[in-house]
Amino acid sequence: MKIHFLGTGTSAGVPMIGCACNVCTSPDPRDRRDRCSVLITWDDPALRVDEKHLAVNPEQAHRRQVLIDTSPDLRHQAIGARLSRVDAVMVTHAHADHVFGLDDLRRFTASMDGPLEVYAEPPVHEALGRMFEHIFQPHRNVNNSFVASLTPLALTTGSAVNLYGATWTPVRLMHGRLPIHGFRVDHGSTSLAYCTDVSSIPPESYPLLQDLDLLVIDALRPRHHPTHLSTDQALDIIHELQPKRAYLTHLAHDESHADLSARLPDHVEPAYDGLTVAMP
Ligand SMILES: [Zn+2]
Ligand SMILES: [Zn+2]
Ligand SMILES: [Zn+2]
Repeated sequence: MKIHFLGTGTSAGVPMIGCACNVCTSPDPRDRRDRCSVLITWDDPALRVDEKHLAVNPEQAHRRQVLIDTSPDLRHQAIGARLSRVDAVMVTHAHADHVFGLDDLRRFTASMDGPLEVYAEPPVHEALGRMFEHIFQPHRNVNNSFVASLTPLALTTGSAVNLYGATWTPVRLMHGRLPIHGFRVDHGSTSLAYCTDVSSIPPESYPLLQDLDLLVIDALRPRHHPTHLSTDQALDIIHELQPKRAYLTHLAHDESHADLSARLPDHVEPAYDGLTVAMP
């Protein structure tokens, strides 16, 4: 199993429009932070993908690919990762920086020539239905040829979904007062959890976040924020959960990758766009 960081930035992205700070003008490519999204992949020897996908990226052969969130930067994230197919999409919550790229899934459903399953909890599906009427109320469209074909499927907190040999468990997180989902993914003997946009973890979620090989967690900035963890709050949670390794994401422009990396413990790193981490 691998995790591919497509975007690791906060809602405005880094650089931010209209900001001339040291991080927004940094020449270090690791300081460019698109809106948050990851791709989780694992091998499935039984999978046979069409030649046209191998032409885009031969690494897609025998590889299951599940996208978490569809950021407004999805188009160039997918092109950068040479991604032409995904097996499913998991949605954490319906904030604009996590879902406004949903329309671009039409390129995947076109190239895969079939519908794509989108997993989210019911209130998120309701919000997506309002935002993307042209997708979810296709009878109102004049022409449906250019619209994503998406199948909404409901997630229940704590109830695992089995996808092509990997087990996905939605984990309740609090994003300010908004309940959202993080995901624990188990494949073979390896496990990871992706917890973006979190300001606190309810006690009942702690058992679902034990014995992780890798934890990805929101760490917006050094200063406190009402709906995101600060760097120190994220480090406290990492200390409590004891994953083998941890990566920080949803990063604002307050610190450069190099400065943040230098002050973190050895097993914790800032994630950056384009980073791929393989499970042991
Ligand atoms: Zn966000
Ligand atoms: Zn800035
Ligand atoms: Zn959010």
